[in-house]
Amino acid sequence: MTTTTTTTTTGEDLHTQCFINGEWTGADSGATNAVINPATDEELAQVPDCGRAETKRAIEAAATAFPKWRDRPAEERAALLRRFAELMHRDLDRLARIMTLEQGKPLKESKGEIKYAASFLEWAAGEAVRIYGETIPASTTNKRLLALKQPVGVCATITPWNFPSAMITRKIGPALAAGCTVVSKPAEATPLSAFALAALAREAGFPDGTINIITGDAKTISEEIFDNPFIRKVSFTGSTEVGRILMRQGAQNLLRLSLELGGHAPFIIFDDADVDAAVEGAIASKFRNAGQTCICANRFYVQERIAESFMKKFEAAIRKLRVGNGLEDGIDIGPLINDDAMEKVERHIADAKDKSAAIRCGGERMMLDCLANRFYTPTLIAGMTPDMLCATEETFGPVAPIALFKTEDEAVHLANDSPFGLAAYFYTRDASRAWRVSEALEYGIVGLNDGGPSTAQAPFGGVKHSGFGREGGHFVMHEYLETKYVSWGV
Ligand code: ADP
Repeated sequence: MTTTTTTTTTGEDLHTQCFINGEWTGADSGATNAVINPATDEELAQVPDCGRAETKRAIEAAATAFPKWRDRPAEERAALLRRFAELMHRDLDRLARIMTLEQGKPLKESKGEIKYAASFLEWAAGEAVRIYGETIPASTTNKRLLALKQPVGVCATITPWNFPSAMITRKIGPALAAGCTVVSKPAEATPLSAFALAALAREAGFPDGTINIITGDAKTISEEIFDNPFIRKVSFTGSTEVGRILMRQGAQNLLRLSLELGGHAPFIIFDDADVDAAVEGAIASKFRNAGQTCICANRFYVQERIAESFMKKFEAAIRKLRVGNGLEDGIDIGPLINDDAMEKVERHIADAKDKSAAIRCGGERMMLDCLANRFYTPTLIAGMTPDMLCATEETFGPVAPIALFKTEDEAVHLANDSPFGLAAYFYTRDASRAWRVSEALEYGIVGLNDGGPSTAQAPFGGVKHSGFGREGGHFVMHEYLETKYVSWGV
C-alpha cells in the first residue's frame, strides 16, 4: 500500500499520487520523482514517474466516463463546476501555500492565482448551460437544417509550471462544461497543486474518470496521448519549441490542438501617456511571478521626450520590490523556478553588458541566508539595441530592458518585429492613436493602458509563433465542441 499524502515541514498536507479513475495511484514501477521547493531546495514530496501504461489507463477511464458525463444535463455539469470553484475558495489559503512551496511565487500572488483559477470554473459553469445550436433556413420547404453542438470527446491537457492551477482550470473547466472528460499532465515542477485540485474535484462529486491527473516523463506520457485513438483534442500551454513537436505528433491522428506558446511582449510608452499609470502597469506586467509569465512585458520602448521621466520613476519603483522566500510577508519577487532559468537571465544580462547597455539597477544574483541560490535582483537596463538577446527572445526573469523611439510608426515596427505574437502593451491618452496602434499590433492580446489584461471572461491566446486557439470567455467553448449538421427531410 503506497502512501497517498505527505506533510511538509511547514505543515501542509499534500496529495502525492496520480489521480486515475477516481483512485490515487502510483507508477506501476513504483518509480518516483522529487518535487523541490525552488526557494530552499527542500524536497517537498516524491511523485509518481508514470509511463505509457498508466497514461493509457487514465485515457481509457476518461473514455469510459465520457458518454455518461456528456449525457448529464448541462445544469448538473454546471453545478459540479460551481461546487469545485467553491471548494477552491474554501481552501484558498492552503492551496496558495502549496503553490508557493512548489513554484516559489509570493503568497499574495498564489492567492490571486487560486481565485483566478476558480474563476475559470465559475465562468465555465455559466457557459455549460448556454451551449446553443442553430436552426438554418433551408432552400426547400421539405427540409429542416440543424447545427448541433457536441463535446469533442476525451481531451488531454499539458500545462506549465508558471501557473500551476490556473492553466489547468482554464482548460479543464470549459472541457468539462462542454461534456468532455479530461486527462491532465501538469509540469514536472508543480504537480502538487494539480493533485490538490484533483482532491477537490473528487470532493465536489465529479464522477470517476471525468478528471484524471498523471505525472511522469513528459515525452513518454505525450507519446501515449498522441497515439491513443480515444484522445480527440490536446490543449497545451508551454514553449514554442514543444508546441512544434506536439503539432507534428498531432498530425498522426489529426488531433484538434490549442497551443498557447511563448511570448516576447513589447511595452510601449508614448509621450502623451500618463507616466505614473505606465509605471504601475509596467511593474505589474514585468515583475509578476518574477517575470516568469508568457505575457510578461519583455522589452520596453519609450518615446524620447518622456524617456528620462519614465525611467526615473520606473527605477524608483523597481528598487522598492522586495525579493525573498514567497512564504514571508511583504515579498514581491520569489525565486526563479530552476537553475536553467537563472542561467538564461544571466546570459541575457551578460550579453546586454557586452553590447554596452547600462545597468541602472540590479544586474546580479541576490544571496539570501539559508535560501537556494535562485534569487535575482530586479533589473533595469537602459540602451537596449535590437541585436541584444533580451530584445529578441523571452528572458523569463525580473529584467526590464528599455530602448527609445521617435515616432509611432517606429514603435509599431519595433513591436511587430518578432516571430512571437502573444501580448503587447501600450500607454497613450490619444484616442485616435489608441485605435490605430491596437489595430496595428500583430498580437492576440493588447493591454491598452492596462498592464494586467488576463481575466476569465476575455479571449486569451496568440498569433504567429505564439500559437493558436483562444482560452477564456465564450471563445474557448468551441475548442471543446464539434458542430454537427443534421439535414432533416420532413
Ligand atoms: P517551459 O519552458 O514553460 O517549461 P515546456 O514547453 O518545456 O515549457 O513545458 C510545458 C509543458 O510541456 C510541461 O508540462 C512539460 O512537461 C511538457 N513537455 C515538455 N516537453 C514535452 C514533450 N516533448 N512532449 C510533451 N510535453 C512536453
